Amino acid sequence: MMERLDAFMARANAAYYAIRDPYRDFTTAPEVSQVFGELLGAWAAVTWAALGRPSPVILAEAGPGRGTLMADALRVVRRVAPDFAAEARIHLVETSPRLRSLQAERIGAAVWHERIEDLPAEPLLLIANEFLDALPIRQFVRRADGWRERFVEADRFVEMAAGPPDGGVSRAAIDAAPIGTVAEIREPALAIARWLGHRIAQTGGAALIIDYGPQSAGLGDSLQALRDGRPGAALAEPGSSDLTAHVDFTAFAAAARQSGARTYGPVPQGAFLTALGLYARAAKLARHLPAREAAAAVEAARRLAEPDRMGRLFKVLAITGPGAPPPAGFEAAASVAP
Ligand code: SAH
Repeated sequence: MMERLDAFMARANAAYYAIRDPYRDFTTAPEVSQVFGELLGAWAAVTWAALGRPSPVILAEAGPGRGTLMADALRVVRRVAPDFAAEARIHLVETSPRLRSLQAERIGAAVWHERIEDLPAEPLLLIANEFLDALPIRQFVRRADGWRERFVEADRFVEMAAGPPDGGVSRAAIDAAPIGTVAEIREPALAIARWLGHRIAQTGGAALIIDYGPQSAGLGDSLQALRDGRPGAALAEPGSSDLTAHVDFTAFAAAARQSGARTYGPVPQGAFLTALGLYARAAKLARHLPAREAAAAVEAARRLAEPDRMGRLFKVLAITGPGAPPPAGFEAAASVAP
């Protein structure tokens, strides 16, 4: 069987998330520190108030993994913003039945969806941490006689004649690419950006996209396979390792704006979390812990924010309606109108 890379990646990741415990292979910010989800819960409550307390309101997460982020967020929301806690309807976008049952244990009552586009048409606060990087990409390679697209057959790439890739980097960069260059396009992520931009511009709300990738994706191969915390073979045994690719924040934000929304950032995760009070919250947490755990809590906060750790590679992008105020954490960031 020969499959285009995006079809292969969709099939491999569906199998992977259905069967494997992904946290054997990688860890994520909410698993590093409870403060991550707590700050995002506070962010959602503050954003809801700034938007004029719309009711009803959906608090949604895409790709909630074990449910840690949302469980930490809701714990804080119930304590500091009981009015928002009472209004918010929890919606989760998750395809893996296995992860859905873990999420139900951690979060309790919620409505699950297969796709972001299935969320009901109501004011929406959406958080997605390390969701977009799991979505399928297409790859093209520049050869002497033009561009070829990558397909997968057995455990290797096969190249098929194709036109120049459209929808990633600029046409000028594509035309100037040297022989051997890999170019990527991310159609499912861009479709989500267009949908979110439209929905948020129409019904109000905000989205927070947290993921890794360069400020502006260039040419090159960002496909990565992770197994047991180490790089694995991307094409061997579909479902045995986590397949990811960098998020192209520039293209994602542009697609959201084309649909009528305003975007902020992306800003580095470290700057965003620090602006929301990461270290103050970690210090407060540490005060109630024995010395060893207290040191670990502060160290975990540092891991999320320090530039040479998760603080710079990970970035945060916000999407709001065209007339909404700047969301918390983006006061110093440039916003771009639709
Ligand atoms: N946000 C979590 C988990 C990241 S792993 C954390 O920070 O720990 C990626 C998550 O997205 C998993 O829950 C996975 O099952 C889900 N996922 C991956 N591809 C998906 C898709 N196409 N549609 C819906 N969910 C998907």
